[in-house]
Amino acid sequence: RRAAFAALKSEAPVTKDGHRLTVMVNAGLRDDVAALDVTGADGIGLFRTEFQFLISSTLPSRERQQKLYRDVLDAAGDRPVIFRTVDIGGDKALPYLNKEDADEENPAMGWRALRLALDRGGLMKVQARALLDAAAGRTLNVMFPMVSEPWEFDEARALFEAQREWMEARGRKLPAEIRYGAMLEVPALAEQLDLLLPHIDFLSVGTNDLTQFLFAADRANPRLAERYDWLSAAILRFLRRLVAPTRAAGVQLAVCGEMGGRPLEAMALIGLGIDRLSITPAAVGPIKAMVRSLDRTALMAHMEALLAAPPRDMRGALQAWATQSGV
Ligand code: PEP
Ligand code: MG
Repeated sequence: RRAAFAALKSEAPVTKDGHRLTVMVNAGLRDDVAALDVTGADGIGLFRTEFQFLISSTLPSRERQQKLYRDVLDAAGDRPVIFRTVDIGGDKALPYLNKEDADEENPAMGWRALRLALDRGGLMKVQARALLDAAAGRTLNVMFPMVSEPWEFDEARALFEAQREWMEARGRKLPAEIRYGAMLEVPALAEQLDLLLPHIDFLSVGTNDLTQFLFAADRANPRLAERYDWLSAAILRFLRRLVAPTRAAGVQLAVCGEMGGRPLEAMALIGLGIDRLSITPAAVGPIKAMVRSLDRTALMAHMEALLAAPPRDMRGALQAWATQSGV
């Protein structure tokens, strides 16, 4: 099977009825970029920039950040890379940064990610400069984590734009294009999606965090791991609501949580009309194999029926459809 998956490297993720999907990989370290060539993925849909911060004993300098981002872009070549600004705080606490605030009762719902970055503007300014410099002459895709309200996205974007203007005034070489996106991980953001969409170029759903907030179930608690299923009607219906508005607004919609790397889950996402996945590199082969055996039109009709009258065992129902359809 491994050899069969490896052979799919140069095959595109196209469904049996001719629909081309986009399958990208999640990465966080310089060496992860090699996965692009190994898997034949379409790009890096989530580059977790906090990894560099987490493996460092001091705050990485602008020069070090810039070097990493440039290396990643060089290695990716023509393939797009989406850099997520630091998602630190919470369970990814940095001793050298937020020591005085490390004592939170609910760190996952605490002072983390964009919340922390907006409060510590200096941190994000340095990162913005590093990213803008690294992407000089190329496209820069920036994505903000844990956006809960549209104004948080606006503030983060304004911070980047201010750095861009600062560099422009000094005659520095800038990216040819900057695309800004938000992660949807906090359910509240979905309620204001119409207000956010005109401001963003792409939206990426972080189903790891989204699930824990939707079900109020800690993603790190093994006692709850079996209790809430990614293939539940609640999650699938929630995600379905995002598809039509993003498409109407011309905003790219992707899923970059671990859910997309599991074949049955990925199949369900495709059945909702989600065409872009960013997944762990080891999953690219199995997901491509699944996609290439899929009749997307039939699947979408089936998903609609399932979500209209959800069976208690959604997973079982999807598995049965997959087996019967030769997926
Ligand atoms: C997510 O929450 O789904 C996500 C992709 O971000 P992370 O796993 O880094 O929190
Ligand atoms: Mg997350």
